[in-house]
Amino acid sequence: MVARSFVLAGLRAGPTAHRSAVSSPLIFHSRLPAHAQRQLVAFAAARSVASSSGPSQPITSQGTPRENNPADPVTRSHIPSAFDKSSPSPASPVHPSLSTSQTVDAITRTTTKGGIGGAGVARPGGETGPGPNGSGANAGGAGPEPKIIIERVKRGRVRKWVVRFARGVLAIVLGGTTYILYSSYQNRHPPVQLPQDPTKKNLVILGNGWASTAMLKALDTEGYNVTVVSPRNYFLFTPLLPSVTVGTLETRSIIEPTRFITRHKKRAVDFLEGDATDIDVKAKTVTIRDNSEMQKGEVSETTIPYDYLVVNIGAENQTFGIKGVKENACFLKESWDAEKIRTRLMDCIETATFRGQSEDEIKRLLHMVVVGGGPTGVEYAAELHDFLTEDLQNWYPEIAGNVKITLIEALPNVLPMFSKQLIDYTSATFKENKIDVLTRTMVKEVGEKHIVAQDEKKNLLNIPYGLLVWATGNTARPLTKSIMAQVGEKIQNQRRGLVVDDKLKVAGLDDVWACGDATATNYAPTAQVASQQGKYLARMFEQIYKKEELELALEEARNTQGAAVNIQELVKQYNRVTAVRPFSYTHQGSLAYIGSDKAIADLPFFNGNLASGGLATYYFWRSAYVSTLFSLRNRSLVVLDWIKVKVFGRDVSRE
Ligand SMILES: Cc1cc2nc3c(=O)[nH]c(=O)nc-3n(C[C@H](O)[C@H](O)[C@H](O)COP(=O)(O)OP(=O)(O)OC[C@H]3O[C@@H](n4cnc5c(N)ncnc54)[C@H](O)[C@@H]3O)c2cc1C
Repeated sequence: MVARSFVLAGLRAGPTAHRSAVSSPLIFHSRLPAHAQRQLVAFAAARSVASSSGPSQPITSQGTPRENNPADPVTRSHIPSAFDKSSPSPASPVHPSLSTSQTVDAITRTTTKGGIGGAGVARPGGETGPGPNGSGANAGGAGPEPKIIIERVKRGRVRKWVVRFARGVLAIVLGGTTYILYSSYQNRHPPVQLPQDPTKKNLVILGNGWASTAMLKALDTEGYNVTVVSPRNYFLFTPLLPSVTVGTLETRSIIEPTRFITRHKKRAVDFLEGDATDIDVKAKTVTIRDNSEMQKGEVSETTIPYDYLVVNIGAENQTFGIKGVKENACFLKESWDAEKIRTRLMDCIETATFRGQSEDEIKRLLHMVVVGGGPTGVEYAAELHDFLTEDLQNWYPEIAGNVKITLIEALPNVLPMFSKQLIDYTSATFKENKIDVLTRTMVKEVGEKHIVAQDEKKNLLNIPYGLLVWATGNTARPLTKSIMAQVGEKIQNQRRGLVVDDKLKVAGLDDVWACGDATATNYAPTAQVASQQGKYLARMFEQIYKKEELELALEEARNTQGAAVNIQELVKQYNRVTAVRPFSYTHQGSLAYIGSDKAIADLPFFNGNLASGGLATYYFWRSAYVSTLFSLRNRSLVVLDWIKVKVFGRDVSRE
């Protein structure tokens, strides 16, 4: 019990306290029962008298007297008696007038000067014999030789650092755990919300992807009755989607239920799971159809009015109208796409191992083709390569050698948005990883088992494949096209998406805004752009709300002939909130994973660019994505998945 207390005290109060604790159990008086404390005080006081009135007893480093004199209070045999309940409790013979703590203080000071365990008394290893110079007994006040002192000081320093380090680790662990517990408690216990208010305006947000989620997080919902509509009830962290296709990450680790966000807003936010199928810009209504596959309720279609509408519905996959793509290729945009690819991949592999399969058929089944050399296509090819080399070779050694990955790109090189040296670095890494890259090659037709493509010399290639992943960019969704049609071609003249002004308002319409992939702007269709636009709109809607409140207040002040000063102040505020700045984008850099624990990064650096690639960039890539994930829950799940794969490997079961 006492020994454990020493260790605890050593950790809490540092090595000095630890040493004095070893030499004097009085440090722990407050934890002992009262009678033991009294005995201990008496014992130490007697010890103090002994050490100050007569010559010191020679002792060992453990504080054990060399001669065990029962009359001497310093002897070891007295220590247990101090804790002995049956012993009488003598009053302190030294400082009867002092309180317990004062007495302890006084005693501690006395013992430190030259009493038991004082630095000048004990020697390491209990050595009390003649010193190295042979000049006689080294006891009482005589100090140890310099070498020993230096060693002792060194050891003391090391111990000090070890204790500091242990304390630091303990503080981090305790702090981290408290933070995780506190924030998960907060997340799981949303507060009571204000109900929707019929006097407030209706703000309808379509979609819950990057743009809408960033907007929702930043939006002060007190000013509006907000309704969110989307065919899926969660936000999907797309940059990590390629990792789901091979089981590096689980789908649930990179999605976050939208209600986890809406339930934490000040005023209740309505969420409707369904497709917005029609927007009437004149009547200002949106028609929504329940897209549930499992269960249809009595009502599966509804039309809701809006005062303000935000169209953040992203885009769909671009197929360029190539025959057979929709029917035979897998896309990589949604969580179910990634799961489908995973299933298809394992299906190809298991079918290839089926007994009696011809050599050619095995090769076809194990030929994985990716069309599109942008970040999505490159990252998918990279993840596939890792899966084949790290896992497939262990579980399917008989066929692993036949697996082939081909990436087809119509442009002269992959990743055109990255700097030249990173493009070269990626090409070299792919070559090393035996990923075939066919540039300047265009797919003409996709059959069930073959792709017809044309190379730069206009030769037609017939490419057999088992799995085809199509990642060639975006095109406008039907709903986006219907809005464009209502406005007219003169204004909405871009096929890629909605034309918006510099404040993200849809050209040709009042009260409709749009962000992200649904728009046709000069920005790249990325999550970075979409989320910055979403945040911008959140701020803007706050300004609109304030502006409307001020308009009412001004009207009231004028009607009631309010004080001129008050009106002036209101006008000032009004001018401030009506000055809405246009949206401006801040590029934070481009990142892509290229396989074998290598990533590339093009980062803005002062007025230039910093290009880097390799293992360090890979860790940067990982940490950047983990910190970008919207919730602590997702961050923890993603990190756990990475650890799981490192320890157990990827799961090769076909779901
Ligand atoms: C695999 C992959 C990897 C990517 N990696 C990166 C990356 O590393 N970095 C980066 O910056 N960008 C990346 N992107 C691009 C990025 O995901 C998009 O630019 C971003 O998602 C666009 O955001 P958004 O809000 O406009 O659209 P989305 O995020 O696509 O959201 C659209 C939302 O609208 C909903 N919706 C669709 N139709 C309707 C409808 N009829 N009615 C109502 N709602 C509807 C959808 O369900 C969805 O919730 C990647 C994309 C993919 C597919």
